[in-house]
Formats: sequence, C-alpha cells, structure tokens
Amino acid sequence: MNAVIKTTNLTKAYGKHKAVDRLQLNVLEGQIYGFLGQNGAGKTTTIRMLLGLIQPTEGQIEIFGELLRKRQMDILRRVGSIVEFSGFYGNLTAKENLMINAKLMGVHTRNAVMEALEIAGLEQESGKLVGKYSLGMKQRLGIARAILHHPELLILDEPTNGLDPVGIAEIRRLIQTLAVERKVTILISSHILHEIELLAERIGIIHEGKLLEEIDMDILKSRNRKYVEFQVSNPNSAAMLIEQHYGINGYEVLNEGVIRLYTHLGQQGKLNRLFVEHGIEVSRIAESETRLEDYFVRLTGGVPHV
Ligand code: ATP
Repeated sequence: MNAVIKTTNLTKAYGKHKAVDRLQLNVLEGQIYGFLGQNGAGKTTTIRMLLGLIQPTEGQIEIFGELLRKRQMDILRRVGSIVEFSGFYGNLTAKENLMINAKLMGVHTRNAVMEALEIAGLEQESGKLVGKYSLGMKQRLGIARAILHHPELLILDEPTNGLDPVGIAEIRRLIQTLAVERKVTILISSHILHEIELLAERIGIIHEGKLLEEIDMDILKSRNRKYVEFQVSNPNSAAMLIEQHYGINGYEVLNEGVIRLYTHLGQQGKLNRLFVEHGIEVSRIAESETRLEDYFVRLTGGVPHV
C-alpha cells in the first residue's frame, strides 16, 4: 500500500516549546488512520501543517508522494478537511450554504451538493436553516462540505468533539461509509480512545509533540490479553497468597485495591475462597481484556481523557 501522507522529522516550535517534535507519520492509502492524543499533545498543530495552514519549523511533508511545500495547490485540491469552526451562515439553509461553498471551491457538478448532503444523512434536512441545526448536524454538514469535490484524502480534526453519543455514532457511520463507498483515505484526530478503537485500522499515538507509536489495530488487538480482576480489601496480601498457594506470578496490583491476573482465568471460585478464608474481603470479580486504553496509559504514563 502506498503512503498517502508521509512526514519526515516534522517539527513545529513556538519559541523554545516544540508543539510537534520530529514526527514520522505514515498514513496508508484506503485506511482510516486514528491520530490519538490528549489535549495539547500536538494533533491540531500537525493537522494545520498537513493542510498548509502553518509552516513547519523543520522536516517535510509528502502527500500523494509529492512534497507539500513544492506542490501545495495541486495537492490540497485533492484533500478535504474540517478544522475548528464550521463557518456556515446560520440564516441560510444547508443546501444554500453548500451551493455557495461549491461555487467558491470551483465544484460545478450538478448533483454534488445533494449527493454530499445525502451521504451525510442530511437530505431530509437540506432546506432547514443551519442556525437551527444541532452541533452533530453541523459537524456532518462540515464533512459534507469537505467531500463536495470528491477528495481522495480527508483530514478531520476532532470531528466528534462536544457531541452526544448519538451524534458520535452518526459521525462514525459517515466516516465508515466514506471509507467503504468512496474509498477515501481518512485521518481522524481524537482524544476519545473508544471512538478510535471502533473506527481506525491504524493508529498513531502522539504525546507531548512526539509520536510514541504507530501501529495497526489488528496487531494491537492480537496482543490484547484476557484477565480477571479481584477488588479486594488488601491486594498485597492477596498477591502473596496466590503466589504461595498456587505459584501464580502473572498478576499486577493496580490502584484502588485491584489485583489483576493474566493466568488462572476460570478459577475465580477457588481464588475467591482462598482470599475469604484468609480474611480478605472480595467486593468484585470481573473478567475482561486489555484494550487500547491500557495500551495508551502504558505508553504515555497518564490517564487518557475519555
Ligand atoms: P487539543 O485537543 O487541545 O486541541 P492538540 O493535540 O490539538 O490538543 P495542539 O493544539 O496542537 O494540541 O497544541 C500543542 C501544543 O502547542 C500546546 O502546548 C499548545 O499550547 C501549543 N501551541 C499551539 N498553537 C500555538 C501557538 N500558535 N503559539 C504557541 N503555542 C501554541
């Protein structure tokens, strides 16, 4: 697969502070790429550089195999994006807004506006004033505008920010439709792990301006480990007991009185009895598996914003 976006040592410094620090991104053709990071990690700064809105301090950006700095106009014609504010006229309908945008963008295809509204699920609402749209509808309208010219690459900066679960699910469906039906390569930034977990085929994790890892979700999922957690009154004694009685050492003691075992799944009853017989109270037993959240915390050493 070809890289649609490839950055080499991409850096943006504001004074001494490096908002983005030697980033090496590789977004492959046809993929949904989740660009994940906490607030202030450097996602928007990166995206603004990818769109030519700000200039890198160092490093280079290739999009569609060409240097952005040399061929910016030609490249950006093939890219759609939403970054920050929507900039729609509230006193015009969605259709009128998109017609104005289509004209400005030089899109003259007759059905482009209605097609974009349809794919965004706004066909029925096309005659409604944008001022009366919900935030979720405005975000979908933003995506409709971004696809008017049939871009091959779509760059979306936190498109689900501020939306309720229904709004988030609608955006997710729209992104999946665009990837499948229009074969668009999509880079979506987010600080919501679960969102990215459901959508992305590949993720890049940025933290304090640095790319900590870039990995395929398939590989990440295959590394997921099942575990059982016991919430106990004294996790350190519980750990000692399972080591002494059953030779178990595949465990972790977590905060808030939780001991997590990666082996001996299915033997919760036996272990529960052991704890209780030794005066340890057990208030919760739950089976689960490691997820993106665990991975993220391990990499960044911090609790993600979810
Ligand atoms: P958020 O989700 O909060 O937007 P982000 O990952 O998009 O976070 P950025 O907006 O890229 O983060 O910001 C990264 C860092 O760069 C932050 O520390 C921010 O304060 C700083 N920064 C961004 N733009 C500027 C600027 N124009 N001048 C100075 N510092 C800036």
